[in-house]
Amino acid sequence: MVESAEPLVTPPGPETAGAEAEPAPAAGPALAIFAHPDDAEISSGGTLAKWASQGREVHLLILTNGDRGSEDPDQDRDELAATRAVETEAAGKVLGLAGTTILGNHDGELENTLEVRAEIVRVIRTIRPATVLTCDPTAWFFGTRYFNHADHRTAGATALDATFPAAGSPMFFQELMAEGFQPHKVPEVWLGWTLEPNTYHDVTGFMDVKLGALFEHRSQVQGDMLGIFKEWIPLEAKNAGEKIGVEHAEAFRVLSLD
Ligand SMILES: [Zn+2]
Repeated sequence: MVESAEPLVTPPGPETAGAEAEPAPAAGPALAIFAHPDDAEISSGGTLAKWASQGREVHLLILTNGDRGSEDPDQDRDELAATRAVETEAAGKVLGLAGTTILGNHDGELENTLEVRAEIVRVIRTIRPATVLTCDPTAWFFGTRYFNHADHRTAGATALDATFPAAGSPMFFQELMAEGFQPHKVPEVWLGWTLEPNTYHDVTGFMDVKLGALFEHRSQVQGDMLGIFKEWIPLEAKNAGEKIGVEHAEAFRVLSLD
């Protein structure tokens, strides 16, 4: 958690004017793309769990191995990455994910390169998602006590760049086409950790699953962080839920690319 201290505030109100209630569930697979092993749970765990419970095939692609998620200077980074991979598998089972992939990029060093975009395009062209869910790359400052981790901003930007136009265009990554990965146009993008939400997704009934999945990331969620998450995550979801009159919700900026 430490390296990836997540936004501890709900996005401010004024930008939420005109926000919509929950859209009808999209058909087809969903692909979540985040920087660190525990980001998806914190940002969107309720939504991913709900989609999985509705029968959608939900996949998670994590762009770094989380090997700087420690305050202990003696922590072996390879060992930490291995631990986090095991934790991620366990968390994915709690959420009901169909699959989880972790790329080998080092925590804190994620860059929007052709190589990373190629890896994402490969996954998009394999899973052929109806929805890509990632984080908003334009979100820098959350209130007065947190600004967004560089890996989070980069993950969002890289995921979007891979989604459009690259994944859907036969002119991009033609070497992947030669391997059988045909273009796929993603019709819908959901951005979590946003300052400009236009959609609140009802996740009432999925808070226990969200927290249960997050707490599988034991190397990150311990000591004070455990209490902070137990208090903050339901509160954030409650505040978002009030926007649409439900008990708990998660906030997103949703784009339809059709
Ligand atoms: Zn993170």
